[in-house]
Amino acid sequence: MKQAVITGVRQAELADVAEPRPFENWVVVKIHAAPMCTEYKSFIAGHNASLMGHEAAGEVVAAAQPCRVKAGDRVAVMPLAGCGQCEYCLSGDFIHCARALDFVGLTGQETGHSTMAQYVLKPDWLLPKLPDDMSYAHGGLTCCALGPSFGAMQTMNVSAFDTVLITGLGPVGLGAVVNARYRGAQVIAAESHPWRVQRAQEMGVAAVIDPRSDDPLGQIRALTHGRGADCAVDCSGTVQAERLCIDATRRKGKVAFIGECNDDLAIRISPDMIRKGLTLIGAWHYNLNDIAKVLQVIQNSPLIDLLVSHTFPMSRIQEAFELQASGECAKVILDPWG
Ligand SMILES: [Zn+2]
Ligand SMILES: [Zn+2]
Repeated sequence: MKQAVITGVRQAELADVAEPRPFENWVVVKIHAAPMCTEYKSFIAGHNASLMGHEAAGEVVAAAQPCRVKAGDRVAVMPLAGCGQCEYCLSGDFIHCARALDFVGLTGQETGHSTMAQYVLKPDWLLPKLPDDMSYAHGGLTCCALGPSFGAMQTMNVSAFDTVLITGLGPVGLGAVVNARYRGAQVIAAESHPWRVQRAQEMGVAAVIDPRSDDPLGQIRALTHGRGADCAVDCSGTVQAERLCIDATRRKGKVAFIGECNDDLAIRISPDMIRKGLTLIGAWHYNLNDIAKVLQVIQNSPLIDLLVSHTFPMSRIQEAFELQASGECAKVILDPWG
């Protein structure tokens, strides 16, 4: 099968690799839509990567034993995998599985672990079925496009009573706008990239402030009658934006961090937490039991087509990565068969 690989700095191509074989309750899914996520960072840095992609939607084509899905089922492919046995997996929070899976050791296969490929190997219980009338491109939005912010907003109970600050409007941030708007919340966004600012405005955000301008905190306070946002979601993974989320959220408000960040944010326990009464959470994905609600957002949100800006045949992987590196896109989806 074809699989995307990075071969150098800003160089990507397709390689021929072995097709995965079904194994116990791990079934083979023919991928029809592979949303692109953070892999472009490896593309820019030139990190050789042969296992790229963790988001997909497709069709089950082979199972080794009777299981929860069968050949012909149209499914979303959840990111990563879990052991299926620990307390986190059993309660639907498989993304936080307590036992690290050794894919190669367990399955005896070197391929099938990534989704920028024509087939993927996945445990049957991580393949929720898609509604018959949902496209694969939309089905793939159940992964990182909508997933992390959906999980955050479920935990924060975001509703139509709330003003939500969203910092960073990459695909995850634009997904957060879709989730917040679906819940009826008013959105204030912080972003400086012109393409993404415009896309957020098309999605009906109340205001977009430039985080690099003078006094973004003052602008958010002015937009909220001096009170601050009720909730904030950082999708940028920068310390500056994380601090803005904490400072611009009102007393007793809630802040969720969903942008991966390797730098150290300094949290001041007394002023930020105890006296302000903030709730700070991290969210990676949503509980698997909420999949029906995520599918409902996809089916009913009038903004969903604005969340997918481009679809490329995987044969144009180079072009797709270059577009992502430019930032002039929302979610970009690969068709591994084109
Ligand atoms: Zn587990
Ligand atoms: Zn992702």
